[in-house]
Amino acid sequence: METLRSFSGGRWAAGTGSPQILLNPATEAPLAQASSEGIDLAAALEFSRRTGGPALRALTFAERGALLKAIADAIQAERDALLELGIANGGNTRSDAKFDIDGAIATLLAYSEIGIGVLGSKKILVDGEGIQLGRSARFHGQHISVPRQGVAVHVNAFNFPAWGFAEKAAVALLAGMPVLSKPATSSAMVAHRVMQLIVEQKLVPEGALSLLVGSPRDLLTHLGAQDVLAFTGSGDTGMKIRALPNVIRHSVRVNVEADSLNAAVLGADAAPRSDMYELFLKDVVRDMTQKAGQKCTAIRRVLVSSQIMNEVKGDLFELLAQIRVGNPADEETRMGPLATKSQLEDAHKGIALLNGKLAYGNLDRQPKGFFLSPILLESPGEAVHEHEVFGPVASLLPYESNAGEVVARGNGGLVCSLYSEDQSFLEETIAAVAPFHGRIFIGHPKIELSPGPGTVLPQLVHGGPGRAGGGEELGGPRGLAFYLQRTALQGPRPAIQKLLG
Ligand code: NAP
Repeated sequence: METLRSFSGGRWAAGTGSPQILLNPATEAPLAQASSEGIDLAAALEFSRRTGGPALRALTFAERGALLKAIADAIQAERDALLELGIANGGNTRSDAKFDIDGAIATLLAYSEIGIGVLGSKKILVDGEGIQLGRSARFHGQHISVPRQGVAVHVNAFNFPAWGFAEKAAVALLAGMPVLSKPATSSAMVAHRVMQLIVEQKLVPEGALSLLVGSPRDLLTHLGAQDVLAFTGSGDTGMKIRALPNVIRHSVRVNVEADSLNAAVLGADAAPRSDMYELFLKDVVRDMTQKAGQKCTAIRRVLVSSQIMNEVKGDLFELLAQIRVGNPADEETRMGPLATKSQLEDAHKGIALLNGKLAYGNLDRQPKGFFLSPILLESPGEAVHEHEVFGPVASLLPYESNAGEVVARGNGGLVCSLYSEDQSFLEETIAAVAPFHGRIFIGHPKIELSPGPGTVLPQLVHGGPGRAGGGEELGGPRGLAFYLQRTALQGPRPAIQKLLG
């Protein structure tokens, strides 16, 4: 069995103590083991700050962009092997695994392009226009943004081991901050292999990128005022992290991407069998079943006008019945298992909590593997607006004329999708749901190759208020702000202009 090692302090180190065993979630066969015991985490962070930080800050944005391109190329060259790892360790179908690996490559390339093509040979970001502050033009103000001098710690969820690693690392490295990335232990094999490629090929300066495999232990208690922490995972863990005394005392900058009760709303103008209606059904089924519904952006609440609810239910039933659940190593499989036994237990508990009537699916357990059939519920209880079931589970909710109000009861989400061409319905619903969401997806059948609401694009922000963690990532150059300190320069204009070239 492979032992996954951490790469910290510029070297590989295996943990001591009793390791966590990583399984194939379809067969429960052990694949690898990992432990972080015995690794000096305070020293690892200090190495990143002292070695990786200065090395990155010495580079221009274009040079940092070139590092990202090299990482993307290395992943691309190893793509087939990484897909196999995602299938074995993540329970991903080949298409699920592509979503993760190709998403990682695309995000790295998008930020590489921002570095090389947009920000270029600068090391400091000039923020907005200069401002005349006094009667004469001599007294001048200018906002600038510079890289923080700490380390960016990234704690990732199990569902996107490659994309999660890459989307955070791309932005931090481009901004000029060294990264210590901690993948979720259960699915860490993909991130571990990506790190091996980066180290073997010496793609980044020493100390610029580290990987901690296994428990985070006391890692976060060593964070200080110049460090930042970007976390993706459950709301409960997010809450614990925010409450750490050193995080509060040193005002450590924290970004949390947590739970989300994403809603899809079918407008009353989208008649059954219309192209819009078919697109809606397709997106709902894709989100329920892609990665076995373990996507933070997956549709959980399906809002349909009460007049056509029965029709929608019947059509979804038919489409879901075509989804073959099984071992993703089998090419016929359309949906694999959940990632771990505890995810499966949580999903069963969550379904019970939603307290709905089973419109599709069954709750049978398989003798081996963490399988769950797609589950469509109707008439759920109020918990449907409060509890996220992280699996292939969605609930049907009828609405009359108050779709926006119903959606907003989720109290903060990553994405809400609307399927309508009725402009006044769109305006009214967007006004009602926009304050509660980081992104609104407007479905249209004429948008070719639409990735649906579940795909996070590097050009647009990812995150959401309230339940979703209150965070924001990506969004093109906007994403850099988290890793930079904005400083206002005020003084004589010639001196400031000379300073900024
Ligand atoms: P989790 O238990 O919170 O774990 C997430 C990460 O946090 C893992 O790397 C985990 O490490 C680490 N962790 C756990 N306890 C920690 C602690 N006390 N201090 C520091 N790190 C800690 O979440 P999960 O249940 O695996 O993930 C599923 C959840 O993530 C879902 O609720 C989903 O909505 C959310 N999610 C959100 C997004 C988003 O972008 N908004 C994306 C994906 C998933 P170990 O694996 O070693 O325990």
